[in-house]
Amino acid sequence: MESFDQSLVPSSAHQDEAEPAYRASEPARPASGTETEAFQQAILAKLTYDVGTDPAHATDHDWFTATALAVRDRAMDRWMVSKGRNQAGDKQVCYFSLEFLIGRLLSDTLNNLRLTDCARDALAGLGVDLDRIRAIEPDAALGNGGLGRLAACFMESMASLEVPAYGYGIRYEHGLFRQELRDGWQQELPEDWLIRENPWEFERSDLVYRVTFGGFVEEFPASGRPTRFAWKPAETVQAVAFDTPVVGWRGRHVNTLRLWSARAAEPLRLDAFNSGDHVGALADRARAEAISRVLYPGDETEAGRELRLRQEFFFTSASLQDLLARHTRLHGDLHTLPDHAAIQLNDTHPALAVAELMRLLVDERHLAWDDAWAIATRTLNYTNHTLMPEALERWPVSLMEQLLPRHLQIIYHINWLHLEPLIRRSADIELIKAVSVIDESQGRYVRMGHLAFIGAHKVNGVSALHTDLMRQTVFRDLNALYPGRIVNKTNGITFRRWLHQANPQLTQLLTQELGEAVLDDPGALIKLERLADDSAFQDRFRSQRSASKISLAKLVADRTGVQIDPSALFDIHIKRIHEYKRQLLNILEVVALYDAIRSEPGRHWVPRVKIFAGKAAASYHRAKLIIKLANDVAKIVNSDPVVAGRLKVVFLPNYNVSLAETIIPAADLSEQISTAGMEASGTGNMKLALNGALTIGTLDGANIEIRECVGEENIFIFGMTAEEVETYRKAGLHRDRAGWSARFENAISLISAGAFSPDDPHRFDSLIHALSSDDTFMVAGDFDSYWATQRRVDELWQEPSAWSRASVLNTARVGWFSADRTIREYADDIWKVPV
Ligand SMILES: *Cc1c(COP(=O)(O)O)cnc(C)c1O
Repeated sequence: MESFDQSLVPSSAHQDEAEPAYRASEPARPASGTETEAFQQAILAKLTYDVGTDPAHATDHDWFTATALAVRDRAMDRWMVSKGRNQAGDKQVCYFSLEFLIGRLLSDTLNNLRLTDCARDALAGLGVDLDRIRAIEPDAALGNGGLGRLAACFMESMASLEVPAYGYGIRYEHGLFRQELRDGWQQELPEDWLIRENPWEFERSDLVYRVTFGGFVEEFPASGRPTRFAWKPAETVQAVAFDTPVVGWRGRHVNTLRLWSARAAEPLRLDAFNSGDHVGALADRARAEAISRVLYPGDETEAGRELRLRQEFFFTSASLQDLLARHTRLHGDLHTLPDHAAIQLNDTHPALAVAELMRLLVDERHLAWDDAWAIATRTLNYTNHTLMPEALERWPVSLMEQLLPRHLQIIYHINWLHLEPLIRRSADIELIKAVSVIDESQGRYVRMGHLAFIGAHKVNGVSALHTDLMRQTVFRDLNALYPGRIVNKTNGITFRRWLHQANPQLTQLLTQELGEAVLDDPGALIKLERLADDSAFQDRFRSQRSASKISLAKLVADRTGVQIDPSALFDIHIKRIHEYKRQLLNILEVVALYDAIRSEPGRHWVPRVKIFAGKAAASYHRAKLIIKLANDVAKIVNSDPVVAGRLKVVFLPNYNVSLAETIIPAADLSEQISTAGMEASGTGNMKLALNGALTIGTLDGANIEIRECVGEENIFIFGMTAEEVETYRKAGLHRDRAGWSARFENAISLISAGAFSPDDPHRFDSLIHALSSDDTFMVAGDFDSYWATQRRVDELWQEPSAWSRASVLNTARVGWFSADRTIREYADDIWKVPV
């Protein structure tokens, strides 16, 4: 075991000598007999001493735990070395995110430690199948969708690039709900990933911070000195740290994901308990612990608003206290904080960091306001993820006053200092209203985006278009006041998970053709271009894809009972269900196609399988009705003998990271059809293109940059541009049915006539009514262009060689969308840390 560890993990002192074992030009190290044996012994030891069972009685879950613990050990030495480096004074990135959509960790860790083959052999020797126990691991679903998944990709990428970093968030006991379909309707069930031991985390019971709420503020005026303020809170909650090691590529560096769990300061009120009130004695505890109980289900709901604000403050405060404690311990003087830490706020959920950092520095550490402000604004940075007005976070002043009275004062003061120069130069009142942190247009609200903007060193958008629109719309006036603060950082994905691990078949083909270097350098994918026209290579490319499609067909049959033909075109629409993502547009095209096939059954039709997956926010009724529509359409289409074999529709339940990993390698066509101007970036689009799917999409988010990379002949672009959407809307055309084409009109009338819901013909009236009266998402406006473009897709599909060429070129040309590139840009332009 000893020799195993050392050969795998180079010690920092001898990094240069140890490095050759991983040189990119060398093939992956085969698992030698002794390595496998050592690993087998390690698994057996874990099974006995940590799980407390023996091979004869071990369940698959026991094997999973023992294997995970054995793998985790392999990362520990490097974790300690990395921590040592972090202590040494290197600048650290602190990534604050209310969501980390991680998925499973076993494959990730095995892959990054290059231990997959070794583990497979070791387990096989024990009569255990690695793939079976991999499937046992629950998904860590501490996020809703793209924003949380981005945080997870960034954590992996920072570890791989050896950027010292902490991820900070909440250890939700229940992550995103599990989705089941009952009669085609979404049902939400609680998710319980922590019901059994989580082998990856370490509870730091002694790493605890107090987070407080409510109460009032005391003032201490002093002559000749600024008034001091002290917050006298009414309620205290403890934040307990749980650390998970994040292992970078080839185990070179290991960072920490630190998630906070809420604990009551007093476990129970003993007096109440002894006097017989057993439930009441635990009430405070239940209230405190509710903070880390569940992931907030989405950004559309009104319910649980206060709990949400408590969650945001809870993790922001604990993380800042942790950061300041570490800084003080290592460096003493807080004035050097910006030299040793860069904080990235993932959206506005942690925007209270601006006020809380000021409170900690001024009230608790007694720094002068101006010094504290200089420190805060050199340390904090903010990533914006949405321009949609309803999704821009704002909190009622009254709630803030009650829960965080001192923070509200600080926010007012920040706002005053920000507005005062404008007032002094008698700026236009409309301008002042527009840039104020307090929105007074209807009631009084704190605008979290404005707060984050004003407190940040850099503010970034997540694709070129999104950043442009940020400058022109929501932050137009702030951008004029603080020119140069807004920068673009187009999102990326980690190729380790979304190519190497999700698609071993394609990865093997790539390493055979391009060498192992392609695993280390996504830029090397470009060398695939020269094989795009090579018919022998195309055959291998296709056969690798067809294996993935066969696996997906099997999964579809297992989970839905629908038989699909692996040689059909797999047309994939997987993402959160949201009106702006326009699953409805896709379903309407299905309806139109179904109708077309039925009216000309003798014609040649390209066999297609439409696959949908995605969750709707529990309170988002219209999105849930769209899920029902997809399922109703599927039921009719799939059982129609006239259509037989030419069109199938599938809705796969419970979309999550693991399901994405199985679907993506099997996708021929990637649906990225949001209303232009509404998808900030998208990352699903990148995952699918990387795995060789051709995109059908609008000029929205990162689709625009994907088109630039893959070339416009290798992507299907349709629909209005963001600018055209604006013009269309200004002209009121989205309220005008007169422009509907016959084909669209016909699809709509089939639905309204109950063709897909004979049991309840009016089921979809509200959807149809919305389209006819105010087509906010331009479903009607883009339909004809979408339909025509789908027919171009059909044409290309009928030329297998041309299709494969385009598919290979997609894989070859999207190396730029590696999260490593994104992280390098953040490191250079925003964080100023070396990479
Ligand atoms: C990548 C990913 C997303 C984001 O998908 P988009 O298509 O960019 O919206 C959401 N959920 C999961 C599970 C993902 O893996």
